[in-house]
Amino acid sequence: MTQDEIQDAARLLGVALDARQAGALLRFRDLLVAANQRFNLTALTDDASILALHFLDSLTAVQVIRDLQRNVGAALELIDVGTGGGFPGIPLKIALPELRVTLMDSTAKKVQFCAEAIRALGLEHIRAIQDRAEEAGHRPEHRERYDVVIARAVAPMPTLAEYLLPLTRVGGACIAMKGSEAQAEAARAAGAIARLGGAIAAVTPVTLPGRDERRALIVINKLHPTPQPYPRRGGAPRKSPLQ
Ligand code: SAM
Repeated sequence: MTQDEIQDAARLLGVALDARQAGALLRFRDLLVAANQRFNLTALTDDASILALHFLDSLTAVQVIRDLQRNVGAALELIDVGTGGGFPGIPLKIALPELRVTLMDSTAKKVQFCAEAIRALGLEHIRAIQDRAEEAGHRPEHRERYDVVIARAVAPMPTLAEYLLPLTRVGGACIAMKGSEAQAEAARAAGAIARLGGAIAAVTPVTLPGRDERRALIVINKLHPTPQPYPRRGGAPRKSPLQ
């Protein structure tokens, strides 16, 4: 993977990366591959898969975030819930440097890797915190504080809605990065989303350059405050998802 390849592929998604941004993604690739030899951060180890399925897939959310930036301002507060090795949060921060980003994960080792990557890449206005979404959703410093709440590959939609909507400020939005079944998943979760104060704004199909897989972004607007009992604690969002 070269800087030129990254720039060309990103351009196909409508994302213009300069040489410094493409260089930062390459450096992030090196950090990911090195850390992956110590503990499992990603199943993908070859360059082409990391480029397409981690970097470009993360960047498919750029257009939606740009639209939200037009309403809220460029320096909007974004939290990536269940960020793992920093996806989609770190590529998004590199592509949209004005964002103020929080990376959250429940696993200490992953958070530590993200913190190391932030330092090594010299990124500013981005932090990595260890927390569970259903706990953070009740903490005053996180509840209804974020303009954009995003997640990739964390949970089925009704569970995910209960993780994401309590963190989203009224007037903000959630982005769930999903696979080919997104439309049906969104429809099944519409009742849960409404109960949590949200409404589905769009299910936007996205394609990755050079790949056949169908993916989609479920965009949810936060219209009303989330009722106090939510998110339920003790694993309830996962064990008994809202209907
Ligand atoms: N978003 C990353 C990506 O797309 O590569 C990681 C996806 S990984 C399959 C799911 C991540 O979500 C794991 O790192 C896990 O620790 C985290 N996670 C799962 N449930 C969580 C919760 N309730 N609160 C915070 N993090 C959670």
